Amino acid sequence: MSEKFTPVSTVGEFGLIDRLMARVKGDDEPSELVVCGSGDDAAVYRATEGRLQVITTDALIEGVHFDRRFTPMSYLGIKVIAASVSDIAAMNARPRVATIALGIPRNVSLEMLESLYDGIALACKTYGVQLVGGDTTSSRALSMSVTIIGEAAAEDLVFRRGANVGDLLCVTGDLGASYAGLQILAEQRKALEELGEEYEPDLEPHRYVIDRHLKPEARLDFVDILEELRVRPSAMIDISDGLASELNHICTQSGVGATVQVSNLPFDPVTRAVADQFMQDVDMYAFFGGEDYELLFAAHPDDAQKVAHAGHCVIIGRVEEKSVGVRALSADGQIIPLDGSGGGGFDHFGGDGAPDP
Ligand SMILES: [Mg+2]
Repeated sequence: MSEKFTPVSTVGEFGLIDRLMARVKGDDEPSELVVCGSGDDAAVYRATEGRLQVITTDALIEGVHFDRRFTPMSYLGIKVIAASVSDIAAMNARPRVATIALGIPRNVSLEMLESLYDGIALACKTYGVQLVGGDTTSSRALSMSVTIIGEAAAEDLVFRRGANVGDLLCVTGDLGASYAGLQILAEQRKALEELGEEYEPDLEPHRYVIDRHLKPEARLDFVDILEELRVRPSAMIDISDGLASELNHICTQSGVGATVQVSNLPFDPVTRAVADQFMQDVDMYAFFGGEDYELLFAAHPDDAQKVAHAGHCVIIGRVEEKSVGVRALSADGQIIPLDGSGGGGFDHFGGDGAPDP
């Protein structure tokens, strides 16, 4: 935690916005994209002619989505931007501009907010998004709500509703890491509460999964890969609530069923080790853990093979007739229903591990 604690009240609301926006960009000069940024009643940006606009909002709230003791402020900035960019990427679109609304409690200093904005600035740079405005208000807990506007050519957009029977199901990256990271953090928090301030958490061996939880990356790079390979998935969604929940969204909206081969689910070795350590089933981390921010998509078999052979995703299953339902098939031939009776999303684990607000 930073040494200095300057109360936010010392600079006032307008001074605060000026100071924070200054960390994101040098000035308010009009650019090709932004006609008028922060500093007027509303921002104005130049939409690309002929493209459709894609809009999404995500909120992160202290005590619900994160525990400030384990989350550096800059990571929170990274995460809140990445979560929204992930939704834009899931539409096969690219983000353009963002706005943010902050709820600031009294125990958050100016220095902490500057650190938060450093994370926001880094993420915006990574994903090519420009922060064009925001609002601040006092609140009981730290909260951040980000809105991002993106764009795509009409023919490139991918919805949840387009999966066809016979399509292959694919996921990018690896799954369950964020939940594994959350497990480690929850364990460390318990130790901290029991042993007090002299307890020094050693997070290094689990750095990969902790980082996947605290500062996830949106797979916007995959939108570029699809473009390069000239592949347009038939349906796509980002994995924010767990594979089972996302798969159900695709199947419900496409009017199809699906079978996932459990043995094909991709895991990092650290994720497997954490599941072993807690004597839990790593497959459940993928199905119900959430916050992986990888992409799940359905594609024509030729297209799916093309992307998988290039090493950008793994094929985990197949789209089937609706009557089959949404299910997983274990290596020993067991059928695990994923549509409702198996639970869904974070609730499967009884909350996300963060303390109640
Ligand atoms: Mg989403």
